[in-house]
Amino acid sequence: MLHIGCHLSAAKGFVAMGRQALAINADTFQFFTRNPRGGNAKVLDPQDALGLRKLMEENAFAPILAHAPYTLNGCSGDEDVRAFAIRTMRDDLQRMEYLPGNMYNFHPGSHVGQGVERGIEQIAAMLDAMPLDDLHTTVLLETMAGKGSEIGGKFEELRAILDAARLGDRLGVCLDTCHVYDAGYDIVGDLDGVLARFDAVIGLHRLRAIHLNDSKNPFASHKDRHEKIGRGSIGLETFVRIVNHPLLRKLPFYLETPNELDGYAVEIAMLREAAAS
Ligand code: FE
Ligand code: FE
Ligand code: ZN
Repeated sequence: MLHIGCHLSAAKGFVAMGRQALAINADTFQFFTRNPRGGNAKVLDPQDALGLRKLMEENAFAPILAHAPYTLNGCSGDEDVRAFAIRTMRDDLQRMEYLPGNMYNFHPGSHVGQGVERGIEQIAAMLDAMPLDDLHTTVLLETMAGKGSEIGGKFEELRAILDAARLGDRLGVCLDTCHVYDAGYDIVGDLDGVLARFDAVIGLHRLRAIHLNDSKNPFASHKDRHEKIGRGSIGLETFVRIVNHPLLRKLPFYLETPNELDGYAVEIAMLREAAAS
């Protein structure tokens, strides 16, 4: 069975998201740990977290995916920005301990001029500053479009972070279809070739989640603007191939398309049907 969900608003809490997911025939979801452009997270309600764990168990959910705020940049040239990133990630991961066994995804960051190598060292240092002994969350590096000085637009850069950080098996990768296509990996013309490349450089066992997004921009545009499934430059056929691919179909899929709940419900129904046939 296809494991699929979408990005949901965390405003009403964990159980509310679980119920919303059920209402649109999803069996997982993604949420921001805090305002994507801001700082503070709201107070965590342990009962609410417990309620979600129960709901997930009763409904055989796939792991859910927490997404770090966009402002988290562990490889900024500014020391204060890096310190904020460490504090925020530590706080996020401590909160995730109320939901053990799930996943936390972050954008590796933008080095803003200091260079990829220095940036990778700083990202690994941030990860090493996490409470590694008390961590029951898989941390995921997201593949990026390679916009500006973004790190993670090349598989080799993610490999270098995996090698430099001490998290070991608790560090994985989330592949974003819009980002990799914009970055110049041709999942439309040669999906098998891209997966072979991923396997050779990173290792497919590190691939733990997929963000399903079509792209508003052409191949290798380095832009990162998501489009509804089937309405962009990637196209429905490729998504049907992705959710049915023997190397991918058991992974959890998360939609981050420009949709409200009803639009997500349509995409989930469409992909479930495509995966069943
Ligand atoms: Fe993201
Ligand atoms: Fe994404
Ligand atoms: Zn994106």
